[in-house]
Amino acid sequence: MPTTKLFIDGKFVDSNSSEWLDIPNPATNEVIGRVPIATQGEMLAAVDSCSRAFHSWSETSILSRQQDNIVRKTVTSLLIPFFFFSHNFVFSLIFQKELAKMITLEQGKTLADAEGDVFRGLQVVEHACSITSLMLGETLPSITRDMDTYTYRLPIGVCAGIAPFNFPAMIPLWMFPIGMVCGNTYLMKPSERVPGCTMLLAKLLQDAGAPDGTLNIIHGQHAAVNFICDHPAIKAISFVGSNPAGEHIYERGSKNGKRVQSNMGAKNHGVVMPDANKENTINQLVGAAFGAAGQRCMALSTAIFVGESRQWVPELVERSKSLRVNAGDQPGADVGPLISPQAKARVESLIQSGVDEGANILLDGRNVNVKGYESGNFVGPTILSGVKPSMKCYKEEIFGPVLVILEAENLDEAISLINNNPYGNGTAIFTTNGATARKYTHEVDVGQIGVNVPIPVPLPMFSFTGSRGSFRGDTNFYGKQGIQFYTQIKTVTSQWKAEDATLSGPAVTMPTMG
Ligand code: NAD
Repeated sequence: MPTTKLFIDGKFVDSNSSEWLDIPNPATNEVIGRVPIATQGEMLAAVDSCSRAFHSWSETSILSRQQDNIVRKTVTSLLIPFFFFSHNFVFSLIFQKELAKMITLEQGKTLADAEGDVFRGLQVVEHACSITSLMLGETLPSITRDMDTYTYRLPIGVCAGIAPFNFPAMIPLWMFPIGMVCGNTYLMKPSERVPGCTMLLAKLLQDAGAPDGTLNIIHGQHAAVNFICDHPAIKAISFVGSNPAGEHIYERGSKNGKRVQSNMGAKNHGVVMPDANKENTINQLVGAAFGAAGQRCMALSTAIFVGESRQWVPELVERSKSLRVNAGDQPGADVGPLISPQAKARVESLIQSGVDEGANILLDGRNVNVKGYESGNFVGPTILSGVKPSMKCYKEEIFGPVLVILEAENLDEAISLINNNPYGNGTAIFTTNGATARKYTHEVDVGQIGVNVPIPVPLPMFSFTGSRGSFRGDTNFYGKQGIQFYTQIKTVTSQWKAEDATLSGPAVTMPTMG
């Protein structure tokens, strides 16, 4: 049985742990490997390695960090050849496919979707190559006679990342490349359900020549998370995952004086106006509700049909039936399995709760039969209409291939529904009217808004800006805010006086610098 290693002080090492977790393939539930729950000694060794590496790494020139470390090498070996067909092209494509294959094996999503997962992460890595401009400070010369003030943006120390299962490449790549390129060293805890992809990325980093200790990787669950929240050497924590974990980590980490950014759950609404382009809207809703089996924090899991657009629902149902449910590595698969039998049971019980509370089940994906994969965690596309805000299937994040449908008489009613929902991750409006779109983007209280764009995940030159119940913290992931999160400011005020301007005596009053 293959076992996942730890990555400590530049070496892939076997864990001495007596506690191990199985990693099942979600399409079959066959165990494909095991991951250790790292021991206290192993976690201490990992964080000590980060601490030792910090001084030299933070003093490494910014150009070296950008050019010689993983950031540029990852991009040149993976992304740039992808576009420019250099001699590395075949190698890079193979590696990218290796990462995607690992994702499909451990997480279940389709291979094409897994390649998107890798690609969106590499875009963040590519953006990190602009670190020399992103980390510029500010200056103001001559704030008073002979006196100048300037700021440095500097690394903060050892940083840590705690990742979820649903984007095994993209989300770790939101974390350690940005933290490291800013000059920090990094302790990563991938999701214990999908550790393989992070380990492949670490291998890439090692091959690129990253100094020992700049990245360390531990595995585990709650004990590892609490270790990260409590260890005094760790100065900042990036978390992505569910609300119970995110709120716990935000509170425990902040209480211990750390910076914490915590991206959490969602309930994303798509508003369908009667003037929308019908064909596009139906295709976009189906793709965004059921892609990745609904296991995306930006999945469009709730549709609000405004006015006459409700007549499109039967066509939406027909289009959803055309999706093929299959193991992610099978040709033509559109919807893969859920991560675990527990996730499948939970999704099915939320569907049943909708039925019990009076919703209409227009498409029922329970009991879907996937030939050859009868033991997998499959749920087919499911649509519930007539859903009310008081129903459990509306109040909870389902995180499965289930679209719940509500109706509204007008745009104001739709906006009010969304603003009364506690989550604020993403939303989309489908319309051909600019004024409607503008009103929506100004009045809806959600951090990421798509206008005829169903999954508006911002590219890395912007930041991922979920809000309200979907986020804790004050600086977001990647983009300018990501750099702010991983750096601190030093402000230097200096005075160089000519010799003839020497003070005549002690200045005991508060300097006004006027
Ligand atoms: P999860 O919270 O179960 O796990 C995330 C991480 O936290 C894992 O590393 C896990 O080991 C750890 N963890 C789990 N439970 C914990 C607990 N009670 N205390 C301490 N640590 C704990 O999340 P998941 O199931 O892996 O991911 C799905 C969730 O992540 C969904 O809610 C989804 O919306 C959310 N998500 C959010 C974003 C975003 O950017 N807002 C992106 C992706 C996923």
